[in-house]
Amino acid sequence: MAIHHLTPTVDSDAFSSSDQRIWLKLEALQPCGSFKLRGVGHASEVHAARGAKRLLSSSGGNAGMAVAYAGRRLGLPVVVVVPETTREWPKTLIRRQGAEVIVHGKSWMEANEHLMSLRQTADAFIHPFDDPLLWDGHATMIEEAATQCPKPDAVVLSVGGGGLMSGVLQGMHAAGWSDVPLVAAETVGAESLNASIAAGELVTLDAITSIATSLGARRVSEQAFAWTKRHEVVGATVTDAQAVRACLDVAKEHRLIVEPACGAAVAVARQRTVPVLQKARNVLVILCGGACATYEDLQAWAAESAGKS
Ligand SMILES: *Cc1c(COP(=O)(O)O)cnc(C)c1O
Repeated sequence: MAIHHLTPTVDSDAFSSSDQRIWLKLEALQPCGSFKLRGVGHASEVHAARGAKRLLSSSGGNAGMAVAYAGRRLGLPVVVVVPETTREWPKTLIRRQGAEVIVHGKSWMEANEHLMSLRQTADAFIHPFDDPLLWDGHATMIEEAATQCPKPDAVVLSVGGGGLMSGVLQGMHAAGWSDVPLVAAETVGAESLNASIAAGELVTLDAITSIATSLGARRVSEQAFAWTKRHEVVGATVTDAQAVRACLDVAKEHRLIVEPACGAAVAVARQRTVPVLQKARNVLVILCGGACATYEDLQAWAAESAGKS
């Protein structure tokens, strides 16, 4: 049995309008709170079958949580190295799964280098977004959705390093949805894919300035960018404040807590400023989830942005 769970796709009465139904793929219901478990669970199982004795991750976020969960399910020890900037709550959630959390360095780069120095032959390093095994796992969410909702006129999801996007597009092509446009949402300050689409080549951002830390890859994978040449991918950005507002709407209307990284996709879908969303009758939004932000964090961010405007 797969490590991830099957999730419902719900028809959102709250977010739909008279000429458009919005469907939400509830990946926020995965154990650990995000879609990451699909890809990470699959990759971890494959590595375990190949003889891996330990799993390594350098993600202090949802990917690290998913590796910790998968390792526990497979009976393998897990080591997660995170930089000093990682907040307490994600570290608590990773440790709760029985993983060892090592804090090292000022940036992700330093944490990752330290992790690589610990690496032994029987270790499997689980990348957060750039690995075909992850995409195979993420693709299953579309295989499932195709049995749960009508073929949509557009799919909306959030983009960090582009693992979710690569897996979802793979699943869409397998499901016969290769003609369905994909709307790729990012927050301002984490718009590595939108910047690359605009420039026509892979762009590395100087810094991440958005609070949506789960979208904080300065550069998307080659694979994610290559997809923009093979499929109709429409970029869209929202502000942190709009993403947070969408999270509070999701909490109120669907009784689920998600990160701003996920709220970005909901905000883009609801604004309908992207032309392919204006005429779409059925829109599938990947509610990718995320456990790094608490309800109190969402309220504090909303209060901060209200103070600014
Ligand atoms: C990882 C993550 C993303 C971005 O996924 P990528 O595969 O890096 O593009 C978006 N939202 C949440 C909640 C995540 O955990």
